[in-house]
Amino acid sequence: MTDNAAEPSTDFVREKIRNDNTSGLYSGRVQTRFPPEPNGYLHIGHAKSIALNFGIAADFDGICNLRFDDTNPETEDQDYVDGIVEDIEWLGYTPHSVVYASDYFEQLYAWAESLIERGLAYVDDQDAEMISAQRGGFTTPGVDSPFRERSVEENLELFRNMRAGAYAEGERVLRAKIDMNHENMQMRDPVLYRIRQAHHVRTGDTWVIYPTYDWAHGQSDAIERVTHSICTLEFDAHRPLYDWCLEHLDLPAEKPEQTEFARLNLTHTVTSKRKLRQLVEDGSVDGWDDPRMPTLRGIRRRGYPPAAIRAFMDHIGVAKSNSTHDIELLESFIRTELNRTALRRMAVLRPLKVIITNWPSGADDLREAINNPEDDTAGTRLVPFSGELWIEEDDFKLDPPPKYFRLTVGREVRLRAGYFITAHDVATDASGKVTEVYCTYDPETAGGQAPDGRKVKSTIHWVSAAHAIDATVNLYERLLLDSNPGADGSDPLSSLNPNSREQLSNAKLEPALAEVEVGQVVQFERLGYFAVDLDDTSVFHRTVGLRDEWANIQKRKQ
Ligand code: ATP
Ligand code: MG
Repeated sequence: MTDNAAEPSTDFVREKIRNDNTSGLYSGRVQTRFPPEPNGYLHIGHAKSIALNFGIAADFDGICNLRFDDTNPETEDQDYVDGIVEDIEWLGYTPHSVVYASDYFEQLYAWAESLIERGLAYVDDQDAEMISAQRGGFTTPGVDSPFRERSVEENLELFRNMRAGAYAEGERVLRAKIDMNHENMQMRDPVLYRIRQAHHVRTGDTWVIYPTYDWAHGQSDAIERVTHSICTLEFDAHRPLYDWCLEHLDLPAEKPEQTEFARLNLTHTVTSKRKLRQLVEDGSVDGWDDPRMPTLRGIRRRGYPPAAIRAFMDHIGVAKSNSTHDIELLESFIRTELNRTALRRMAVLRPLKVIITNWPSGADDLREAINNPEDDTAGTRLVPFSGELWIEEDDFKLDPPPKYFRLTVGREVRLRAGYFITAHDVATDASGKVTEVYCTYDPETAGGQAPDGRKVKSTIHWVSAAHAIDATVNLYERLLLDSNPGADGSDPLSSLNPNSREQLSNAKLEPALAEVEVGQVVQFERLGYFAVDLDDTSVFHRTVGLRDEWANIQKRKQ
């Protein structure tokens, strides 16, 4: 599955860059940018764009800036800016520079005046509703604004008044003067500036007019000398406008070019900041960094290794048409990476007491256990064993169903890295629930083998009760039950799973788990991979289970 490590990535975007380099466009220079709007935290979809933009810069010896597209003052926040910088570093990429569209407000304004001077922009006094109504449709032409033929002088004066704060929000906008009958709706005199009486995180109250995406984006690219401006397919229709803006300014011949690629869609996942914010605001999750969230902060707390996310992005590649990937495929990359790197430990999530009735009283014992069978250098550890142990509740059954091979009265099983034990009796509470299991152990089976060669059908994990560490372990299920949330036109959040988190607050851990580091991921034997919480080392989050569901999906498809 991850057999692509040695191969350099190739895709249609890189192919285009190679051709541009061959033809000498940009003199072989390659510069990209990742342009998030700081109105929320990054999600797994953004990781695809990050991997592409930063990956291309690395492959072609170029540079990639992080540019904040901070042109909507009301929704943007410094916390998001800081979080985005942090998340990109976490993912393993370092921007050449961190820049802001707002750094260019003065230049963008000057260029807007130059458009007016060329008769290519005008101030419109109509409100957004009217402008939208006049835009027409795919089959109907637009209607010229009654303000379209204003003189250059009048437009300049009104635009300067707009900047000076002479009008209320929505009273006037600046529009490009292109063609109200253009077959591309984006070209029907798009709005370039609107009035916003809002405080901007970086420019404060300096501005009351703000450029739209279309006016800010291409020009920001040009100012930074971006060569390849890579964005998602929905901007396809904006490309003629992107080019139009650049054509009508005094810029060097070398103009940036926009290339669109298919966004990442994952099953059971929404990748829209607006929807993710809604989950946070209505309390469906604990915050943007809840381990159930597909945000980079969320999956980081969940324990997803950045290397696995990068390998996944590399594997799925970059395409020109939209498609949806199974979340199980991403999870199998997470599992593959963790299988290689995670230390094995024992933890009991739903504890049931086992008492070894022939254990010498007061004796303690240390059992040697392998830290990671996939990594010879990881060595072994000593795990304390004693006469009172915790095992998983469901590793014992009083009335075992057919094919149940774990512990039951009269049966012998192996304790991992411990001994063979045989259950002979139980204690129950008033409701008949088993509260203690009494077993004998065979001292001859210390290495997990019986000298007489007798076999057991199962091996279970355990933690010595006297040495156990208490912990809370969170198990997660899909946050959204629908595999393609919103695909049928319904609200993408309508299939919210009310049972997406199970908190087990009585888990028992082997003592080596006292030494974990914040954020570390370990394998709890037989249970899955678990990440230590970033703030509280007594809390663990299940990153992924052990079973490769992706392999099962593939088998079913065959
Ligand atoms: P959202 O709808 O979540 O707010 P956005 O596109 O508005 O997403 P931006 O902050 O503007 O968010 O996005 C920054 C960059 O990331 C853009 O170039 C955008 O195209 C890209 N991007 C956003 N979502 C995805 C995705 N699912 N897959 C790939 N790239 C994405
Ligand atoms: Mg956006």
